[in-house]
Amino acid sequence: MLKVDNIDVYYGAIHALKGISLEVNQGEIVTLIGANGAGKSTTLKTISGLLKPKSGAIYFEGQNITGKKAPDIVKMGISQVPEGRRVFANLTVLENLELGAYLRNDKQGIQEDMEKVFVRFPRLKERLKQLAGTLSGGEQQMLAMGRALMSRPRVLLLDEPSMGLAPILVQEIFNIIKDINATGTTILLVEQNAHMALSIAHKAYVLETGKIVLSGPAQELAQSEEVKKAYLGG
Ligand code: ATP
Repeated sequence: MLKVDNIDVYYGAIHALKGISLEVNQGEIVTLIGANGAGKSTTLKTISGLLKPKSGAIYFEGQNITGKKAPDIVKMGISQVPEGRRVFANLTVLENLELGAYLRNDKQGIQEDMEKVFVRFPRLKERLKQLAGTLSGGEQQMLAMGRALMSRPRVLLLDEPSMGLAPILVQEIFNIIKDINATGTTILLVEQNAHMALSIAHKAYVLETGKIVLSGPAQELAQSEEVKKAYLGG
């Protein structure tokens, strides 16, 4: 469904991604794990059109999307939940959700998706008029996910959804991710919390300094001595 083929990405002189290739099949949860600065966020930003690769290509459903603009990529069905949530703090919960659908004009479909977001995140429904900046960290993560779902994505890119959340909320967010996947959305998940990510993913890639050093079924990687030592605390 989504194929990243040998991409190189630079920030000025910094060579952040060095020939990254990966594949996400329809219906899967695929996770990218790795230490700080390994290039996980850069990979997501390149897929979503925020960064351009210097070489290599990205295909979505067989179509070459390399270099397309971010809004066009959203329209095609790929939506990103950025690291650190980035909700619009001075807008209400409802306004944030509406912005997630700004590229759509099917009013009825938008309303249906809004209802689905309320079912999935009842806490957002209770806080529709509240300014997003006053939500708790967990609620902001839910809002960022709800906003992304309002574009009715076929692939959801999640950048560190567990960052800064209490353990009980981390569990809740991961349950929600599993459920979003179970209802038909393919997921590419970037996480520092390798333990949680490997527990819900079908497939995993391990990044180190801009390269993929290991990949395979998530269950297998979770058992690998190398991964245990480096990412699962021994
Ligand atoms: P983290 O979990 O800390 O976000 P990451 O694996 O997502 O780590 P990236 O954010 O993709 O890592 O960063 C990859 C490399 O690119 C790092 O060396 C980082 O310093 C560098 N980098 C990221 N963003 C920029 C930028 N805007 N300008 C210059 N260098 C950058």
